[in-house]
Amino acid sequence: MSKFWSPFVKDLVPYVPGEQPKLAKLVKLNTNENPFGPSPKAIAAMQTELNDNLRLYPDPNGERLKQAVAEYYGVTAAEVFVGNGSDEVLAHAFHGLFQNGRPLLFPDVTYSFYPVYCGLYGIEFEALPLDDAFQIRVEDYARPNGGIIFPNPNAPTGCALGLEAIERLLQANPDSVVLIDEAYIDFGGETAIGLVGKYPNLLVSQTLSKSRSLAGLRVGIAVGHPDLIEALERIKNSFNSYPLDRMAIVGAAAAFEDKEYFEQTCQAVIDSREQVVGALTGLGFEVLPSAANFVFARHPQRDAGELAAALREHGVIVRHFKQQRIAQFLRITIGATEQNQALLDALQQIL
Ligand SMILES: *Cc1c(COP(=O)(O)O)cnc(C)c1O
Repeated sequence: MSKFWSPFVKDLVPYVPGEQPKLAKLVKLNTNENPFGPSPKAIAAMQTELNDNLRLYPDPNGERLKQAVAEYYGVTAAEVFVGNGSDEVLAHAFHGLFQNGRPLLFPDVTYSFYPVYCGLYGIEFEALPLDDAFQIRVEDYARPNGGIIFPNPNAPTGCALGLEAIERLLQANPDSVVLIDEAYIDFGGETAIGLVGKYPNLLVSQTLSKSRSLAGLRVGIAVGHPDLIEALERIKNSFNSYPLDRMAIVGAAAAFEDKEYFEQTCQAVIDSREQVVGALTGLGFEVLPSAANFVFARHPQRDAGELAAALREHGVIVRHFKQQRIAQFLRITIGATEQNQALLDALQQIL
């Protein structure tokens, strides 16, 4: 703390990202990165863009990327927002759509950045408990609120919610924005983007960090009614005119255009996930049904914190959350075949 800080800074409780270890040898299954590289076409597009034009500012609106997203999802570019990682897109949504004096609703077990943004922007929230099977009960969200947000599939549970439940939620809350954070949607969930034309209160965010394997590039998007997008644009243009650099705009656009590579790598992750789920179950774990590129699992006889520490001794890092309700779970990213095997071999020895 320092006397130079704005007073509110001392009360901020920042988000703590998963460890990015310096040791290259570790099997890193803790931050849900994609084991396959980005589309070769995305890499090529960025290499072409790496030239003297870098002296010029990028397109402040990232139109090239908005077009690619619009085409991919069959929406208009006016329904698309692009930002520097979906975390930034979410931050602008909290700032521009949820700061309205009424409480924001989200599940008690969810992405831990949401309460952090509430702290940053002074937004009250109510954390509504998931049911005993760790599923979202949409009925619970029919109460006065200033907005609703959750990931679908949820994080860190991996459990997906169906589109009819999401429609019920949208219909029950016509006066507040429902933000569906689809960071993991491409690994088995059904996107709500098709509902955007029907529900002006729906905003859907996605990231290129997981299914498109571009976590290092920092690109996220949102799709919603042009009025919602305009709020995000007004915040963005009051904060940073050029959130996406030249490389990010062309690389992300090319990643959306390379549908074949995208579908093939998503399917490979899904296939590996099913194998890992089978093997973990064989080792005595209970695994929540996952539609994501990670699984959330507990062992009825073993303490999760101790398991995570033992795995680390074996060179495998997974994510363990200290939050009471999920303290006996491990969140394990689906990695490359050898990484998954290293995890299973280590568990075999530990157990
Ligand atoms: C990874 C993740 C994000 C953030 O993605 P970035 O685009 O890398 O900022 C957002 N929401 C959830 C639920 C995530 O897991």
